[in-house]
Parts: sequence; structure tokens; C-alpha cells
Amino acid sequence: MQRLAWVGRTGPTGGFDDEVYYLPMLRDYSLQPAEVPVHTPAFLSDARRNALKADIKRLLEERDAVLVAHYYVDGDIQDLADETGGCVADSLEMARFGRDHPATTLIVSGVRFMGETAKILSPEKRVFMPTLEAECSLDLGCPPDEFKAFCEANPDRTVVVYANTSVAVKALSDWVVTSSVGLKIVEHLAAKGEKILWAPDKHLGNFIRTKTGADMLLWSGACVVHEEFKFKALEDIKQVYPDAGVLVHPESPAAVIDIADRVGSTSQIIQAARELPHDTFIVATDRGIFHKLRKSAPGKRFIEAPTAGDGAMCRSCAHCPWMAMNELEALAATLESSDNEIHVDPAVGARAMKPLQRMLEFP
Ligand code: SF4
Repeated sequence: MQRLAWVGRTGPTGGFDDEVYYLPMLRDYSLQPAEVPVHTPAFLSDARRNALKADIKRLLEERDAVLVAHYYVDGDIQDLADETGGCVADSLEMARFGRDHPATTLIVSGVRFMGETAKILSPEKRVFMPTLEAECSLDLGCPPDEFKAFCEANPDRTVVVYANTSVAVKALSDWVVTSSVGLKIVEHLAAKGEKILWAPDKHLGNFIRTKTGADMLLWSGACVVHEEFKFKALEDIKQVYPDAGVLVHPESPAAVIDIADRVGSTSQIIQAARELPHDTFIVATDRGIFHKLRKSAPGKRFIEAPTAGDGAMCRSCAHCPWMAMNELEALAATLESSDNEIHVDPAVGARAMKPLQRMLEFP
């Protein structure tokens, strides 16, 4: 039997209204547990960590390199980026920072699409990563050939893709967006009457569709970390901390988003922790962000949102295995050896540059 997906507007109660119609549904592109690597970072003594940090600082200077790190990576790497004139940011700001910084070499600590984005925007710079094995389940769950066929089957739709995609998928799109600006850009397109084809994160797509009322056809990918946050367990923990604020990344399931005090990108979550009056927050995003949260809102308490359901089948423990591959040893080795360079096909990169530029220039 053919499975069906809906596309159209939600009614005022969040249910379907008369405009809903049905299309054959894509297969589910979420990764299975066996497809997700387990990564346990090496334990380092304080002496070893300090030696590595000193080496990395020296090598960054010698190589005319700047360190651009994501909020989800190791806290030591985040500190190094801050201390050496680099940046710790979400993927949108990482892209901007790398493009605008005068260094000839960018060291991107995050996952592969972030390194590729840096290379697309700065083709004249050399871009390295601590490892080239740091993937993303959203990127892996959106194969370019299948995505191309999906676009060709829906030629009347404006193609909006999340930044967590390969260069080839970006090159097929009209717009690239991050979770910081996706809502505003889709709102802008919907106001012009455009119908959207969205990929790859189904939860973020559904969140934007619900907020904007836009006509969106969704690819069916998911983030292996955020998809694990559980509504029932979150409700239970709210009973224990009734005064806590709930901060949620929009890659989480709709039921989790619905009970949030603030939904937003990593930067927006950090901003909310500073702005909102709560002393305690339950946070539904990768736990790497706690390093920056504690520094940005000292004195406040942060609790990890539960990933286990009633059966205590915790799979993700709220930490991305690919982000965890960014280790001090790997970073130092990359700087020492000049291995792990990011290369992007210039022609494909030039096509991917256009939708990226559109996002960066969006007011
Ligand atoms: S946390 Fe999720 S969206 Fe972010 S890199 Fe990991 S798998 Fe991808």
C-alpha cells in the first residue's frame, strides 16, 4: 500500500484544514541506530591537555590560521577559539566569520558540511578540519541523486535546504538557511506566494510550516540527537523543576517544541538563557552547548532534557557522535600535518555559493 504524506496548511487548532491534499510520501531518511557511530573521546590528563593547547596556539599562529568552532564541540576547543581570536558560534555565524576573517587558513571544528560551507564561501582559503569523518545524520539522509529527483518531480516549488547538507544538495537549491534564519526566510517567501520544497530535517520543516502557514513539502530526514528528546520524560522532569524554563532546538519533535519557553538555534538558546528570568533551564539540544551556556549565564543552572523514554532506551545521550570526534589530539595533528583539508569541486561550489549568498544577504 502506498504511504501518504500531507502538504498544505494546518488549521487554527494545528489540525488539517480544507487546503490539505496528499502526495506520495518519500521513504523515511532518518538513520537507523546501527548507522550511527559510537565515539568515545580519549581521556587526557591536565598536563597533556595543556601541552596540546599550547601546541595548537603556536601552530595557529605559524600557519596564519584561525579556529572556527561550533557550540557542540569539546569545551577546550571552544576556549581555544575564544582565546586565539577565532569564534565559537552557530553554523550561520561560523560561515560569516570564516568568510570575513583575513587569515589565509581556516580550521573548522564541527562537522563536514561546516567545513564545506567555509570552503564554498572562501574558495581562495585553505580549510582544514580535525577529522573528515565528522558527518551529520541530516546530510547523510539526503543523497543528492534522490534529492534531485524529488526537486524535478516538484518543479513549481522554491527549493529551501537547511545548511546541514552536502555541497551537491546546496547546489540544487534556491535558498540555504540555518535554524537562526529559516523561519524568517520562509515567511518572506510565503508572503510572495511561493510554495516551498524543504529538506532535509522534517521536525524543523514542520516547525517552520506550523509557524508560518507556508505551503511546504517536506523531505523526511532527522537529527539523531534532537529526535531523541522525549515529551513524556520532559513533562516528568518539569514536575521536579516546576520553575525551570525550557529551551528547545527546533530539530526536536513537535511535542517537545510545544512545551518550550523558547525555541531557537544554538545562538538563540544562549541568548534566551541570558534574557529570560528563570534561574534554572532544561535544555533540549546537544550537551556541548552547556560549556557556553555556563559561561554566558553564570549563576544559572542548566539541566539536560531527557532523551530516555519510559523504557530508558537512551540512544543519543544528547551528544552528537560526529561532533565528539573533534578532539584536541586530532586538532593538533591536523595543524601539524596539514592533513584533512576540505576540497570542493569549483563548479559545484560556485552553484552552491548563490543560495548561500542569498541567505547571508537576507536582511
Ligand atoms: S547534532 Fe544533529 S544536526 Fe548537528 S551535526 Fe550532529 S547529527 Fe547533525
